[in-house]
Formats: sequence, structure tokens, C-alpha cells
Amino acid sequence: CGIVGYIGYNDTKEVLLNGLEKLEYRGYDSAGIATLNKDGINLFKVKGRIAALRERVDNNVQATMGIGHTRWATHGAPSEDNAHPHQSASGRFTIVHNGVIENFYELRDAYLNDVSLKSETDTEIIVQLIEVLHQKYNDTAEAFRQTVALLKGSYAIGLIDAEDQDTIFVAKNKSPLLVGLGEDFNLVASDAMATLKETDRYLEIHDKEIVIVNRDYAEIQKLDGVAIEREPYIAEIDA
Ligand code: GLU
Repeated sequence: CGIVGYIGYNDTKEVLLNGLEKLEYRGYDSAGIATLNKDGINLFKVKGRIAALRERVDNNVQATMGIGHTRWATHGAPSEDNAHPHQSASGRFTIVHNGVIENFYELRDAYLNDVSLKSETDTEIIVQLIEVLHQKYNDTAEAFRQTVALLKGSYAIGLIDAEDQDTIFVAKNKSPLLVGLGEDFNLVASDAMATLKETDRYLEIHDKEIVIVNRDYAEIQKLDGVAIEREPYIAEIDA
């Protein structure tokens, strides 16, 4: 399983699909991508191989940011409904997640009694919770940090907000995740293998950190919002 994300000025579909293909060796049962442009989110998911996802993706859709996922099901059978990306009730927030949220029943019962869930995954709880907390904080970064602070378990998360074409929100705990830095783009990946064709400059992300990823910068933060400075490193793997 794995995640990948791209935000830049070129079309994102190929970067996402190529990245997911490079992550195939990690194993998966379904896959999907979400892209965002001025017309909104486009979501494509399949049960099965990346080749099938490639066929499902509408080549007419152009977008300069997006997130992708290969799933190894832990909560809910492998199916198109349970495949990531998952969306909040209004469709505003879209998420990919690797890992296991251990307290998802507790979070559902504490915060989501009024939300009708669309999948059987632990992951959907995260994105629904972000929407509920966004109603309280009216700020996506804050709703994201507050949500992540409530999670117990393992996660590598990529989130997009349909009303913000300039940001991918990222979080990590006990699941692998890197941010790749480009000249006029930035990337998110479980593994440098997924994106080595694009860049060899990476930011290491530590557990319980979030990253605000824009086209021209990536800011690492602690869960209280305080920024952390960290130098990128050069990945030395033959792509
Ligand atoms: N627990 C999540 C699910 O079952 C993510 C699994 C994964 O890491 O791919 O959908």
C-alpha cells in the first residue's frame, strides 16, 4: 500500500499513476486518485490493478494537484466504495490514508452521530471528522491539526480541500511518508521510489508532524502549529 501526491504547474495524472505503479511492489487490492482544478474534485477508483485505474481515469480532466492511493484493506472489504480517496459528507474534503486508526469507533461515536458514512473504512472517520471540526474552527489547517491530534494508531495521510487549490495537507505517524521538493512543484510519497523520476530532494517527516505542502514551499509543523526547520536530503537510489 502507499500514497502519492503532487502539486505544481503540470498535469498531475501521470505523476500520480506512475508513482502508484512504483509502489505496486508494496502490495494492494484497490487504488484511486483525486485531482482538483477550478471546476472541483475529480475522483477515480477501482478494485484491482493500477492498469485498471489508468483506464478509468478520464484523460480530459486536467489538474495541477492531486493525491493517489494503493489500498491494503484493514477495515472493510476490498471494493470500489472502500477504495481511497474518501470524501467528507459535503464533498469538500478528500483524503488518502495508509495505516490503521485504532480508536475509530470511539471517534465515530463521539463526533459523527449525525453523519451517514459511505464506506466501512477507518479512514472515512478521519475525513468526516475534519469536516465536523472545520465547522468549529473555520480553518482547514487547524481542523486538520485538531483531527490528527485525536487519532490513535498509524497513518500516512494526504488531504485536499476543494476550496484550496494551493495546498496538500499531510500527516504521519508510524507509517512511511516523505515530502519531495522540486523546482516549481512538490510531492508526497510513501517511498522515494515513487517519485525519484521527478526529484531526488526529500524532507524527512517525523511521527506526529504535519506538513503544509504548497507549490513553492513545504512547511513542517508540530501538532500545535509551531513550524519546524529541517534541511532536505538527497536520495541516492537508482531509479
Ligand atoms: N485502514 C485503511 C483501510 O482499510 C487503510 C489501509 C491501507 O493502509 O491501505 O482502508
